[in-house]
Amino acid sequence: MSETYNIGLGNNDAETRLNADSDYVSFWDKQARNLSWFSPWSKTLDWHPPFAKWFVGGTINASYNALDVHQNSKSKKPAILWEGENGDSRILTYGEMFAQVQKFSNTLKSLGVQKGDRVTLYLPMIPELPIAMLACARIGAIHTVIFSGFSATSIRDRVDDSKSKVIVTADGGYRRGKIVPLKEVVDEAIQGFDFVENVIVVQRTKNEISITDKDKLWDELLKDASDVCPPEKLQSTHPLYILYTSGTTGKPKGVLHGTGGYLTHLYSTFKWAFDIKDSDVFFCTADIGWVTGHSYVVYAPLLHGATEIMYEGAPDFPDASRMWDILQKYNATIFYTTPTALRMFMKFGDDIPNSFDLSSLRLLGTVGEPINPEVWKWYFKTIGKEKCPIIDTWWQTETGGMLISPLPGLETIPLKPGSGTRPIPGMNITVVDENGEDVAPNTKGYLVIKNPWPGMLLTLWGDDEKYKKVYWSKYKNCYYPGDYALKDSDGYLWLLGRADDVLKVAGHRIGTAELESCIVSHDDVAESAVCGIPDEVKGEVIIAFVVLKQGVATDTKILEKELFEKIRNDVGAIATPKQIYFVSKLPKTRSGKIMRRLLKAIGNNEKIGDVSTLEDGAAVTEVQTAFDEIQKSIQNSD
Ligand code: ATP
Ligand code: MG
Repeated sequence: MSETYNIGLGNNDAETRLNADSDYVSFWDKQARNLSWFSPWSKTLDWHPPFAKWFVGGTINASYNALDVHQNSKSKKPAILWEGENGDSRILTYGEMFAQVQKFSNTLKSLGVQKGDRVTLYLPMIPELPIAMLACARIGAIHTVIFSGFSATSIRDRVDDSKSKVIVTADGGYRRGKIVPLKEVVDEAIQGFDFVENVIVVQRTKNEISITDKDKLWDELLKDASDVCPPEKLQSTHPLYILYTSGTTGKPKGVLHGTGGYLTHLYSTFKWAFDIKDSDVFFCTADIGWVTGHSYVVYAPLLHGATEIMYEGAPDFPDASRMWDILQKYNATIFYTTPTALRMFMKFGDDIPNSFDLSSLRLLGTVGEPINPEVWKWYFKTIGKEKCPIIDTWWQTETGGMLISPLPGLETIPLKPGSGTRPIPGMNITVVDENGEDVAPNTKGYLVIKNPWPGMLLTLWGDDEKYKKVYWSKYKNCYYPGDYALKDSDGYLWLLGRADDVLKVAGHRIGTAELESCIVSHDDVAESAVCGIPDEVKGEVIIAFVVLKQGVATDTKILEKELFEKIRNDVGAIATPKQIYFVSKLPKTRSGKIMRRLLKAIGNNEKIGDVSTLEDGAAVTEVQTAFDEIQKSIQNSD
């Protein structure tokens, strides 16, 4: 059905999968032993659906596993190679991180922060962010990171929900060369919140800030703090953090993660997926404000004592070569990014990446959305020079870590562009119909997870009922991720988009990813988003929004015809959109995901709902204008 790429790293450990398939509980029990525990667990899994407790009775500390365990052999090894947007750079070794984290743990303690208290971190991508996270983890405080692009209202809602005692922020953060006044935003966000006792300010940009009686400067607090702070011995199920989802489908949900299970999941998947070696230089472009940053910028690489790059700013600042420049500068070996970023790089053309030496790369990855096969092939050829396997990793904020992905560090299997291949060992993930019955191969349906896994969320913060309803009510004792999918005859999983976004035309169901990938495979197209709107005759019709590649000067009338033809040939006449709208940008969340529900709302003349996680309001206006203009011209021609 699709092309396969036989490229791997030569690892083949069939036993791990066999063990996992025969008994996933003993399998994870064994994996958990890769971490350092203060005391062993008495029960590997306590499963009262839908609540799972992993490694019950065991005590552990995330910061201990990320730092203390490396002090004998790796104290001089760089943990973080930090690259500022403005060209600043810093290198922090495992020894330096260790000292800084303990100083900040002691600082938090001196401000009265105790085990179980929440601490909000509203910081740019600077080393103080992972330091603050690990410092919370060390003393058992629950961190809640808020992406530093959010407005005062978004912060206010989240701080109110978590009732954080302390907020850590910066005077400002750099974004596209401009200073974002973070401290000012916090001041506005927490007005009247008496429960917020202290605001700690890192001076990153040195812009002028007003100081209130709650405010303390990071540098001054740390100057006098001791760099010895023994880690709390925490229960495995002790909450490590609250993180709100991207909000692609609605209001963000406060996902609560635990410690022992979560760390076990990350340790294992990082090893299997990235085949991590001591000599690697790992670069994950995700902002720590999202789960990818929590799991695969902060916790997983540090658990492994890896060296990683952390970049502060926009991926195309000061120009479209920035990522390739960073990869070349640090001789990065592993690159993990998003389809949305790749589509942007692709839009700028091949000459830019081709002018850099990317020969140090050995493994590539993506996460966040289905990757269009066309984009996968570009990534493989232009960035990986046809020698790097690509791992398309499917997971969610709620799953904590990867659940579906090729695992080159464990086994070599042929890759298919656009497929996440198979579940990680120990997972029973299938595709079912509306009634929960497994569907035949190559039949579309809903992705479901049939057993618990260690990285699984504990619950939604303060809302067990919502947790049960959102994830566990559609199918009995199955976790429902809300994604549409297909399993092919080789058992490979294909993620076809959000279940809520599925297009239903004349009795047929089409995933958004299938149609968008077809449109994006046209040479002139950079990005596309499709959605369904009601139609009196057909029930629902499809509309498509298309962004062209840079410098393309095609007549859109001709292009429209070509796209219609392409869709008819590749997907089928049934999938032909009623209308194509050409726009210069699409509404996306700040984590880069297309917000189809906004397009749908515009198409349906409905209210657009919660847009607190939207990247750029201008995109919505543009889509609305394009839509209105075409509606007007249709009405005029009637
Ligand atoms: P909300 O739940 O508030 O709507 P969100 O689902 O966008 O927000 P995340 O947890 O960041 O928040 O995103 C997880 C979703 O991203 C998955 O459910 C899936 O739809 C999509 N996704 C992630 N990785 C992949 C991938 N490799 N292939 C296809 N889809 C992916
Ligand atoms: Mg989600």
